[in-house]
Amino acid sequence: MIYIGNHLSVSKGYLAMGKQETKLGGNTFAFFTRNPRGGKAKQIDEKDLEDFHAYLAENQFGTLVAHAPYTMNLCSAKEDVRSFSLEMLADDMERMQQIQHSYYNFHPGSHVGQGTEKGIALIADALNQVLKPGHTTTILLETMAGKGSEIGGRFEELRAILDQINLSDQVGVCFDTCHVWDGGYDIVGNLDGVLEEFDRIIGLDKLYAVHLNDSMNPRGSHKDRHQKIGEGEIGAEALKRVVNHPALQDKPFILETPNDDTGYAKEIALVQEWNLGR
Ligand code: FE
Ligand code: FE
Ligand code: ZN
Repeated sequence: MIYIGNHLSVSKGYLAMGKQETKLGGNTFAFFTRNPRGGKAKQIDEKDLEDFHAYLAENQFGTLVAHAPYTMNLCSAKEDVRSFSLEMLADDMERMQQIQHSYYNFHPGSHVGQGTEKGIALIADALNQVLKPGHTTTILLETMAGKGSEIGGRFEELRAILDQINLSDQVGVCFDTCHVWDGGYDIVGNLDGVLEEFDRIIGLDKLYAVHLNDSMNPRGSHKDRHQKIGEGEIGAEALKRVVNHPALQDKPFILETPNDDTGYAKEIALVQEWNLGR
């Protein structure tokens, strides 16, 4: 049994997303907590939420993986961007308490010239302000492609953030295959080695979810352009090894590939077929 799904729009409500994912063949999914470009979040409908939770339980869904808006940059050089990002994060954390025991994934941020060390300190400081004892959401730092001044392109940078967080039990990592590959890690030739390195630096107990994507670009390109499964530089064989790796079983796998519904349904079926027999 594998937990696999794709990214859905929250515009029609929560229950609608659950049903949509079932239609596509999946049993987990990702969604933006608000407009991906930022902005105001929709009011939560209590009845929708209640029906949604019943639906997830009945249909044995895996843990959901919410995604923060792309405009969030907790380590921006601009004070107003940082405070706006912190407000969004704090608001999202409160809202996520209504969807118990889910993951909330975000891009650590871009330090835009301030330096990695400063960026890491700003990110950790923001997280320390919003994490509260008793929260059931696990915040996930996403592994990044290392584009521009992005933080999180190296495992060491994510470890450094974790080291500065007080309630670090509430924070983990989401492993994005396209990003890790673009960041320079050889998940095609040496997946075991990459996961051993992850374990040594971050710890596999901190790996909560996988973004399953192919990449348009060669290893180490730092580009972050996702491709459909099997149609990119990572390729089907390597992604199949990811899906079946013993260290990654039971994690939610989220597709963020450039697809329409038909394409997603096909990829979900393919990944399930790969994983059969486990
Ligand atoms: Fe992402
Ligand atoms: Fe991703
Ligand atoms: Zn990406």
